[in-house]
Amino acid sequence: GSTIGILGGGQLGRMLALAAARLGLKCHVYDPAPDGPAAEVCAASTTAPWDDEAALRAFAGAVDVVTYEFENVPAASLDLIESLVPIRPGRRALAVSQDRIDEKQFLQDLGLTTAPFAAVDDATTLDAALSKIGAPAILKTRRFGYDGKGQARIMAADEAETALAEMNGAPAILEGFVEFSHEVSVIGARGLDGAVACFDPGENRHQDGILRETTVPARLSAAQRTDAVLLAARILTALDYVGVMGVELFVTPQGLVVNEIAPRVHNSGHWTQDGCLIDQFEQHIRAVAGWPLGDGARHSDVVMENLIGDDVDRVPQIAGTQSAIHLYGKAEARPGRKMGHVNRLTGPVR
Ligand code: ATP
Ligand code: MG
Ligand code: MG
Repeated sequence: GSTIGILGGGQLGRMLALAAARLGLKCHVYDPAPDGPAAEVCAASTTAPWDDEAALRAFAGAVDVVTYEFENVPAASLDLIESLVPIRPGRRALAVSQDRIDEKQFLQDLGLTTAPFAAVDDATTLDAALSKIGAPAILKTRRFGYDGKGQARIMAADEAETALAEMNGAPAILEGFVEFSHEVSVIGARGLDGAVACFDPGENRHQDGILRETTVPARLSAAQRTDAVLLAARILTALDYVGVMGVELFVTPQGLVVNEIAPRVHNSGHWTQDGCLIDQFEQHIRAVAGWPLGDGARHSDVVMENLIGDDVDRVPQIAGTQSAIHLYGKAEARPGRKMGHVNRLTGPVR
């Protein structure tokens, strides 16, 4: 049997390991923090910092392929792992998605539409960026942002100084504000043989910067749905990608605008666990293990609702009798923390 190494021990790692177990594969998780959601369902786990060379070598030596559920693993750790064992998806996808400027440039070079953007390092470059892009705009840290953290809106030029202070000196990007009607995402997969399979786009509703709910089908015309899937396939192929990727899109009257990509299984794809025969986690494991992809066809309409913070105390009421419950086993329900999700089937695909 083969063993899959997973970098990052959160809920995505846990659900990958559960899918791998169903395929008869073992997982070994590596995370600097002890007792994460993944470790308790993996055959082996390593708790060590990202720069612990001996621990990284031992981990790489114990697995046949390495994947990740967390895209901010330092490059030096990846260099060491990659010298010993394949990393899937590959390094290019990671590099591109770790930096919002590189990401947007890559997407534009592919001919895709993104928000207008400019690099910001200080008050002078922010001034220049604002005169190029105009307000409203959003200032974001180039790296490490998630769940809307490290972002500040600039509704008018006089808010620039406060927004810049919120970056705490970190390199930033100014993005023009996209006037979208709603947000959707495509969860796409590409196999080692180059085959691509995309799940049906889901419609995402955020609250306080955090994904609250994903609904399939999304409100999209047939042409928009085709566009969404084709552009995801274009991104996967350009990166020679192996595994599952999340592509976040804004729907506008002028067409689809790409917000960002995530080189991993994605929260907005959790509905696939109960809406598809083969979900995003099995699909990712199949891809990284070098197996043929499954058919990602959807059999049901689904609403996925995240359980955030103390939502988890009301699971029975929220889930009722018609939702499947997925909890991550996290001990402490801190505000804003993703504790689990429920999938409600709202009918068969018509
Ligand atoms: P995630 O948890 O999805 O990784 P993140 O912290 O990387 O989130 P983004 O996805 O860039 O942040 O932004 C969070 C949300 O803020 C988006 O889903 C969207 O609702 C809004 N947003 C971000 N960028 C823009 C933009 N340029 N124009 C309009 N709205 C935006
Ligand atoms: Mg993001
Ligand atoms: Mg996002």
